[in-house]
Amino acid sequence: MVQIGNVTLTNKFGLGTNKVGGHNLFENLSDEDGRQLVIAALDNGVTLLDTAYAYGHGRSEEIIGEVIQQYKREDIIIATKAAHDPARNYAFNNDPVFLTQSVEAALQRLKTDYIDIFYIHFPDEETDKREAVAALQNLKEAGKIRAIGLSNFSLEQIKVANADGYVDIVEDAYSLVAREAESTTWEYLSKHGIGFVPYFPLASGLLTGKYTADQVFGPDDWQFKRPNFQAPRYAEILAGVDVLREVGTRYDATPGQITLAWYMKHPKISAVIPGARVAQQVLDNAKAATIQLSEEDFDLIDQAFKK
Ligand code: NAP
Repeated sequence: MVQIGNVTLTNKFGLGTNKVGGHNLFENLSDEDGRQLVIAALDNGVTLLDTAYAYGHGRSEEIIGEVIQQYKREDIIIATKAAHDPARNYAFNNDPVFLTQSVEAALQRLKTDYIDIFYIHFPDEETDKREAVAALQNLKEAGKIRAIGLSNFSLEQIKVANADGYVDIVEDAYSLVAREAESTTWEYLSKHGIGFVPYFPLASGLLTGKYTADQVFGPDDWQFKRPNFQAPRYAEILAGVDVLREVGTRYDATPGQITLAWYMKHPKISAVIPGARVAQQVLDNAKAATIQLSEEDFDLIDQAFKK
């Protein structure tokens, strides 16, 4: 059980929904596939949904809002985010008035009375972060949101935002292949009782084991210039994936499932939100929630990805 503000998470395994309606971010998405992703999650005990205004400029929230009408609201934990301001060509805006309007608009799209976790998606350059969070505290006291989150904030920005102790949770990039948060923000977060949710937990699919050493990426592939797909980093990561595969033989599990099970066991991680493109991936990933890694296997994986 994890407590995040006024939210009690009984199951810390969730679904990242940037491929639900996120037409502005990814090609070849259909709303129907997105709907099926959310249904597959909710029908299989995955009740934490991580969305954002930025995913399809509200479309992800709308699809989730439609689907959850068929389920009990109190069984679902909805996390959403805002900062991209359409009136400023989607530049970030943390102004208290804008954030308050964003929460109201998200409530409409999600067809619900409250948002469980509301994150400021990205910091802007102008707004005093303490004032931005104070606006969210007002919304929390009014029962419109239940927990206050920050995403993509530096340690210095988190400290200012949390000057009154109102911040409940931080979401940031983190995975076995991107462990910077361990040395930048984690100490402060632990000291102040603030939770942590990693995004890109599967390193956009790299940790699922679907990539091989002989794969060549051309200019049309999204992986083409990504650092994790360049030598020698790519080979180092695939060596780590081989360790995941070996550990997986003891649990009848894939590298991706073992990766997610590692985050589930990690005491510093409050929730795990792998994304998916199709419903079958949601089902595959959900198995991770049932895997109890031994201490030895947890440490083996930790060491394999220390570089
Ligand atoms: P991710 O979880 O690291 O990777 C998800 C992708 O991996 C899927 O879309 C799918 O892509 C592939 N995949 C997933 N399960 C698989 C399986 N079982 N077998 C094979 N491939 C599989 O990355 P992410 O979805 O970008 O990040 C997770 C969530 O974090 C997002 O959905 C979003 O909610 C959140 N997020 C937040 C921020 C922020 O700024 N706060 C930023 C990014 C993401 P393909 O099938 O297309 O390969």
